[in-house]
Amino acid sequence: MGNQPMIVLSEESQRTSGKDAQTMNITAGKAVAESVRTTLGPKGMDKMLVDSTGSVVVTNDGVTILKEMDIDHPAANMIVEVAETQEDEVGDGTTSAVVVAGELLDQAEELLDQDIHATTLAQGYRQAAEKAKELLEEQAIDVSEDDREVLVQLAATAMTGKGAESARDQLAELVVDAVSAVADEDDVDIDNVSVEKVVGGSIDNSELVEGVIVDKERVDENMPYAVEDANVALFDGAIEVKETEIDAEVNVTDPDQLQEFLDQEEEQLREYVDKLVDVGTDVVFVGDGIDDMAQHYLAQEGILAVRRVKSDDFRRLARATGGQVVSNLDDLAEDDLGFAGSVAQKDIGGDERIFVEDVEEARSVTLILRGGTEHVVDEVERAVIDSLGVVRTTLEDGQVLPGGGAPETGLALDLRDFADSVGGREQLAVEAFADALEVIPRTLAENAGLDPIDSLVDLRSRHDAGERAAGLDAYTGGVIDMQEEGVVEPLRVKTQAIESATEAAVMILRIDDVIAAGDLRASGDDGGDDDMPAGGAGGMGGMGGMGGMGGAM
Ligand code: ADP
Ligand code: MG
Repeated sequence: MGNQPMIVLSEESQRTSGKDAQTMNITAGKAVAESVRTTLGPKGMDKMLVDSTGSVVVTNDGVTILKEMDIDHPAANMIVEVAETQEDEVGDGTTSAVVVAGELLDQAEELLDQDIHATTLAQGYRQAAEKAKELLEEQAIDVSEDDREVLVQLAATAMTGKGAESARDQLAELVVDAVSAVADEDDVDIDNVSVEKVVGGSIDNSELVEGVIVDKERVDENMPYAVEDANVALFDGAIEVKETEIDAEVNVTDPDQLQEFLDQEEEQLREYVDKLVDVGTDVVFVGDGIDDMAQHYLAQEGILAVRRVKSDDFRRLARATGGQVVSNLDDLAEDDLGFAGSVAQKDIGGDERIFVEDVEEARSVTLILRGGTEHVVDEVERAVIDSLGVVRTTLEDGQVLPGGGAPETGLALDLRDFADSVGGREQLAVEAFADALEVIPRTLAENAGLDPIDSLVDLRSRHDAGERAAGLDAYTGGVIDMQEEGVVEPLRVKTQAIESATEAAVMILRIDDVIAAGDLRASGDDGGDDDMPAGGAGGMGGMGGMGGMGGAM
């Protein structure tokens, strides 16, 4: 009886334990990081991702690459989550966060081989991350909302090396204008910046509309194309004859009665329109439909009407024009009307839209991004969204750091000093953490075609001499003062990256048992990796095609 193995798992389930589990997870995590590494920095390359339907995305954006990659492995997904958290919290630094996470795993692997326990490693990593945050906060430079120059530099840095590069400085100005326009005190809601993509024209034809663009046309041709100094009504309802709840049957016995009935309907519509006219409406945005008859009346009154307006647009219109959205026309009062200096239907990239502009205080704005092809515009949009996030974060936190690998190089030096005070085996983990951070300057150098060792040596010695803003000029290969150069990033880009990368690495390292209901390896959809050795990055079938992944597995 005693020798009988006890079976608690179902037959299909698959279990990997101990060292094998660790190795498998670390390999998977590293593979994810490796896949985006070549895109980092101003000289990073792009990836072309083709999904199962054949649609193509060309991008340099870490989180986009990882989301498009259809990753199956559970540990690999933890690293993808690092990028997603970074995207949600800051909007930039997704590649850096993932690359650091991968390097933390790589460094950990060496220490595990030297029989350092995973728990010790985890503790050391956590301590180091805590200290790193402290150090970064000490070094951060204060920026106020009035430092326009710095804000533009931040916006531009976030777009460096992306598809938006050619019009980077001009877009950076637009981004700062956009975010400044929508910023309420302490609260910057980027949702109030809408981004419209137009294929056609070049990137530098992009512009900022201080107001709202509604993707609709006026409802009747006889309405004016454009209205100046417009009182704008926002009515989230229908201008139609109210339908009875129950199917009503109207019995008419003679033609007069029918006419009377129709007159009644017309009368109701007339009242709606009169109400709008009475309060002084020049333009009305309507959430639902507008009856043909009502359209006719509105046109007669010279009112520009738009129907089926989305609730998001209502929110933006209300913010931009200062109007109130009403859901019952009877309640509409003069006070509820918003105001816009110009409401006009205009052609944009072959599409007619309604532009609501020249408002008193545009607390909702629209960025029109142009580019030669759809792929170009899409990538410009991603770069601009990163940039919007960076400016928002900075207005919220008011603290920035130089970029170009400067903070990471400085941190590595400081953390090695700090390691001495930690002692014990954790000291080794703190040192490993310091080494891992240097992956950023090293990768920036590699991607710029420079010798990473030379660059690191250079950087270290400059930092040793107290030049804390010394970073790598990816264009000349020199080491320069990044702050002077105007390469700056929000503090939170760095602290958030370190925090999420550490959490993910620690979580992966602490796993010594993977129990999967079903075959881990069969879960990939193309099964391309079925011949992987045990303990390899099994289950990552979905990533089989990525060139960057090959070397890591
Ligand atoms: P991420 O997704 O991490 O933001 P990026 O490809 O945007 O990845 O690269 C960001 C890195 O590039 C940061 O370390 C940043 O400091 C650096 N960087 C940006 N602009 C420059 C520049 N002009 N010179 C050197 N490094 C730069
Ligand atoms: Mg970036």
